[in-house]
Amino acid sequence: MENCIFCKIINKEIPCYKIYEDEYTLAFLDIAKDVDGHTLVIPKKHCTNILDADEETINHLMHTIQLVSNHYINKCGYAGINILNNNNACAEQSVMHLHFHIIPRNENDQIYVYPKFPGAKYPIEDTLKKLKIN
Ligand code: AMP
Ligand code: ZN
Repeated sequence: MENCIFCKIINKEIPCYKIYEDEYTLAFLDIAKDVDGHTLVIPKKHCTNILDADEETINHLMHTIQLVSNHYINKCGYAGINILNNNNACAEQSVMHLHFHIIPRNENDQIYVYPKFPGAKYPIEDTLKKLKIN
């Protein structure tokens, strides 16, 4: 897709720090420099996010997320990983090409990934009524 920075990376119009590539996916280092090993995994087929991605694309993406994650743990000395994914601008998605963040973790690494939520506003039963499928 035109003007998509991740499509430009896939098409080699702009460079990336490539970790892994196959026919369907690409994994590369995030340039945020916020935490060592911050990795992005993207499908080569452009879609905005998880909401419009087709099942095959998601399957390929999940396969690569697992492959890279196991590599970090089995070959690179990490003890765990966080997988993060933002969908739509209100949920802090800034690049509108589907991507998952992998954050490699170690014991006592002083990295805190899980959000500090403000506390639920409604009784859990009301929330269940609103959100339940079927
Ligand atoms: P999100 O906020 O979930 O949309 O994440 C987008 C991520 O893309 C951010 O962490 C950015 O640092 C990262 N990013 C943006 N441009 C590039 C780029 N050219 N190469 C690598 N990472 C990038
Ligand atoms: Zn794209």
